[in-house]
Amino acid sequence: MGTILKTELLKKYYGTGENQVRALDGIDLSIEDGEFIAVVGTSGSGKSTLLHMLGGLDRPTSGKVYVDGKDIFSLKDDALCVFRRRKIGFVFQTFNLVPRTSALKNVALPMMYNGVRGAARTQRARALLDMVEMGDRTGHVPSQLSGGQKQRVAIARALATQPEMLLCDEPTSALDPLTTKSMLALLTDINKKLGVTIIIITHELSVVQAICSHVAVISEGRLAESGAVADVFGSPRSAVTKLLL
Ligand code: ADP
Ligand code: MG
Repeated sequence: MGTILKTELLKKYYGTGENQVRALDGIDLSIEDGEFIAVVGTSGSGKSTLLHMLGGLDRPTSGKVYVDGKDIFSLKDDALCVFRRRKIGFVFQTFNLVPRTSALKNVALPMMYNGVRGAARTQRARALLDMVEMGDRTGHVPSQLSGGQKQRVAIARALATQPEMLLCDEPTSALDPLTTKSMLALLTDINKKLGVTIIIITHELSVVQAICSHVAVISEGRLAESGAVADVFGSPRSAVTKLLL
């Protein structure tokens, strides 16, 4: 246990002058190892931008992100890329699988970049697909899979490099309620059994209440409030939280 991720006065501004957008405007957030944390907020509040910064997909305008105590943006681009590949798994709303490529190859791909050899790669990809209950679909390409099945493959792929953290940007927004439920059960399992820290952006507050330990409410690029789900939703301090509930 301990703090796995910490941001200090994190800012991301897009554009300049009149067109400047302050997507993140000074976020101080701390996340403990093994947490399942939800990031909520209205559309355009800066949630995706925050996730991109946390995972080192893009550099902030100013401020810091520490992962395991290391200032990730002190790394040069290639080292940042290696860090991202080893420590972080991403899951997106639109799955982002490689088209016309089998589920097995989609899952094996990140391991290839990390230098895992052929046979070991295939073996591990199969085990991961078994774990997400896609063991009987290893040869299917994305167009032959349903949305829920694609997301299961995407989750297996995100876990391929044994990341410490899974960053999920609205992973269930494109799925029906029943599929959403099974996907969240899978993520809960991954959090509990593998001990992977999960950060999830979602609009479904019932989901947050059911599965998350911690919630961060974002509004206009700032942290409106953050804390245990029962506390934040039970007695919201911020007007934005009240609005969302
Ligand atoms: P959310 O995920 O909460 O809906 P985003 O983080 O995507 O919000 O966006 C926050 C704000 O930053 C929005 O006003 C959006 O238009 C703006 N924004 C996001 N990405 C870019 C970009 N690449 N260039 C310019 N503006 C952007
Ligand atoms: Mg978004």
